[in-house]
Amino acid sequence: MTKAGKVKDIAPHWVFTFGAGRAEGDAAQRDLLGGKGAYLAEMSRLGLPVPPGFTISSEVCAEYYKAGKKLPDALMPMVSEALDAVGKVAGARFGDVDNPLLVSVRSGSRASMPGMMDTVLNLGLNDETVEGLARKTSDRRFAHDTYRRFIQMYGDVVLGIDHDLFEEALENYKNLKGFELDTELKAEHWAEMVARFKALVEQELDKPFPQDLRVQLWGAIAAVFGSWENARAIAYRRLHNIPDDWGTAVTVQAMVFGNMGDRSATGVVFTRNPSTGAKELFGEFLVNAQGEDVVAGLRTPQPLTEAARRASDDRRPSFEGLMPETFADLKAACAKLEEHFRDIQDIEFTVEEGRLWMLQSRSGKRSMQAALKIAVDMTAEGLITEQEAVLAVDAAQLDQLLHPTLDPEVPKLVIGKGLPASPGAASGELVFDADEAVHLKTQGHTVILARVETSPEDVQGMHAAAGIITTRGGMTSHAAVVARGMGRPCVVGAASVQIELERETLSSGGETLSKGEIVTIDGSTGQIIKGRVPMREPTLSTDFVTLMGWADAFRRMKVRANADTPADARQSLAFGADGIGLCRTEHMFFEEGRIVPMREMILADNTEGRRAALTKLLPMQRQDFVQLFKIMAGSPVTIRLLDPPLHEFLPHDGAAIAEVARTLGVTATRLKRRVAGLSEFNPMLGHRGSRLLVSFPEIAEMQARAIFEAAIEAGKQLGTTIKPEIMVPLVTAKAELDLVKDRIAAVAKAVEKEQGVKLAYSVGTMVELPRACINAGEIGKSADFFSFGTNDLTQTTFGLSRDDAGRFLGEYTEKGIIQHDPFVTLDPAVGELMWIAVERGRGSHPDLKIGICGEHGGDPETIRFCEDIRLDYVSCSPYRVPVARLAAAQAILKLKVKPR
Ligand code: PEP
Ligand code: MG
Repeated sequence: MTKAGKVKDIAPHWVFTFGAGRAEGDAAQRDLLGGKGAYLAEMSRLGLPVPPGFTISSEVCAEYYKAGKKLPDALMPMVSEALDAVGKVAGARFGDVDNPLLVSVRSGSRASMPGMMDTVLNLGLNDETVEGLARKTSDRRFAHDTYRRFIQMYGDVVLGIDHDLFEEALENYKNLKGFELDTELKAEHWAEMVARFKALVEQELDKPFPQDLRVQLWGAIAAVFGSWENARAIAYRRLHNIPDDWGTAVTVQAMVFGNMGDRSATGVVFTRNPSTGAKELFGEFLVNAQGEDVVAGLRTPQPLTEAARRASDDRRPSFEGLMPETFADLKAACAKLEEHFRDIQDIEFTVEEGRLWMLQSRSGKRSMQAALKIAVDMTAEGLITEQEAVLAVDAAQLDQLLHPTLDPEVPKLVIGKGLPASPGAASGELVFDADEAVHLKTQGHTVILARVETSPEDVQGMHAAAGIITTRGGMTSHAAVVARGMGRPCVVGAASVQIELERETLSSGGETLSKGEIVTIDGSTGQIIKGRVPMREPTLSTDFVTLMGWADAFRRMKVRANADTPADARQSLAFGADGIGLCRTEHMFFEEGRIVPMREMILADNTEGRRAALTKLLPMQRQDFVQLFKIMAGSPVTIRLLDPPLHEFLPHDGAAIAEVARTLGVTATRLKRRVAGLSEFNPMLGHRGSRLLVSFPEIAEMQARAIFEAAIEAGKQLGTTIKPEIMVPLVTAKAELDLVKDRIAAVAKAVEKEQGVKLAYSVGTMVELPRACINAGEIGKSADFFSFGTNDLTQTTFGLSRDDAGRFLGEYTEKGIIQHDPFVTLDPAVGELMWIAVERGRGSHPDLKIGICGEHGGDPETIRFCEDIRLDYVSCSPYRVPVARLAAAQAILKLKVKPR
């Protein structure tokens, strides 16, 4: 082990050794050691068979970049010392000609970034040590094959030589010799390949392949630190909100070989099924192969267990059948790890001549169904508490479960089948290129991305696609792991499907589909279907109901829905909403038959004309509200008075203008003039919200009347008192609110008198302009409640039109000017304005009810902030309601218990 004490006073602790049942670090040190290094240390402490090694901390990554991509000099002696310690445990020595120690050099950041950074395997070989390895293993073929693998990987990763050049050289040699498979090459052939690869390096770089092992090691460590800044790692971090300054750690570990013959193997195992959550070992393996071969998806791996082999009707033996004793060791290690980490583990292992080695363990990525099942099952097993179960499920991904599935009743033309890698179904236009998928998505297309296999370069395209198909690779291939993490439906390893990238066609089952044709995939069964298939709404599992029940018991904030129609309201209730937080009344007029009187109202050029149109609208509105109140059966309903961005309602084309002109009894020319007169340069900042109500208070009066009359009618039918919440939009000052409020009060009085009843209602306001936040103390005196309209508040804080921002905001996130799209995740400046409004509003009105109803109300990170500033409720679109319920529970639990 490193004698930290010896160098402690003069240098920081940068190198952490592990192995032989001991370790300097542990699982809690993810920030410093990366996920891989931290878990290797912990596995070693648990006494599991971990090849010895050491982790260079992520602090060195920061040093490396600070020094202009140079490793600090002080690191070298620490690494040498650690390497000696590793050699002692491994019974070999780095650079020893008779007994060489070989190592792997891998990345590991605190957040999992699968396949995004670089790895070098088999390091420690040169022209001399390769002979030592041959003698030591009595296997010259293995030694030279390993050496050529090393040159190839090092050449690609460290020296920057195109990987394909090596592949091409190998293919040419095989053709020359008349070989088809790598297995046909003997020791002398691999030795010849080594010579050819070295020549290739020299030709490309004008200098020989480095024979100095320290130079090799130094180069590999620097390259792995350097890969933190490669394009795909940067893209992945953007996608997953991983800060750029975290950096990666580097783990150097003694090699064990899964490619030392038929008693050797390499594989991947999940401690539970990551698709379904079932408590069974799930994985695959390859005999006589190195770890990268499984993940790369170049050979099709075999099933791990007998049960899986039988289920998939695979003729090849399972790992359980082939190596029963090692399987038993693996099973025991899995149980130990799961119990220790109290979470599903995704484990890489290698068997070297019958002996099991654990190379990596990490928390397993899982489908949403599996996440729920595992959380609920582990609670029943006593492994975790209900609180931990609620915290264990990623709220942001919960809506995967709410994805539709294929209608089983409808006949389908199934043209191919692959592995069901990530559940859910999707239809879309076929594309074969990741960049094109991204491009088409921005143009509003829904696409399915088909690839032979995916690589990290395809991640953006996978994210843009509604679903993914690959023709190669297994359930732990890149495509499968990444799609599951993203919640994209995905079918992998569809071997019967032919993809021709040049012609951009996909052929299978006698059918050929070209780019742009519609294809449907079912990520739960692996089916690939020609054309579009009708989908069914999802039914939610008992695990979902159980977990949401726990979440509801923990959360403090209410969760309401933004719902404008009876259908929305029913859906909201089905998803467990506590009420309606925003009914946008202008949306009630998008329907057929209603837009005309709405336009009449907007276009009327005097009060009488407007009143005439409002008289037509009143019964429609009343009927809408009666329905909403009845469906919500006494749960709170916030109805917002009209807030139409006018351009959405003005007639544009000749036919629409002619129709409105006819009903208004004016000429089309006159109407056109009126439309021109009403058009605004920036309607999003125009005559909207309370401003419209200030100009035309009769609109507020009609709506208030419709609300009150509906409340009375629905109340009678339900046998209860309905207390509507009336909300005034786009207010900047108390005076605006008061003006509208007085009109509402006058209508209330009139209706009470007409109907001989006493009304119960409240009047509140949207807070969606910076001026409203600043004036919240005053406004709060007149308001019964506030609801943050963060869509407009974001727009106006940024001075950025909601309609146009999409065109260039992407550049802002790409260039790191802002971290997230502020229309999705609340911007801190907007948050600060909210905080000011809460402080001031409650300062003047202590029991002021406050909620949020902008799109951010369904975003888990924003919901956490809303808990911090003690909002009473969040309101979001119906499909986000379950997400918000879970996120609200997590928000308060995170305040109370430390997340694992
Ligand atoms: C808002 O601005 O956040 C809001 C909810 O209102 P709308 O999106 O209708 O402007
Ligand atoms: Mg608004």
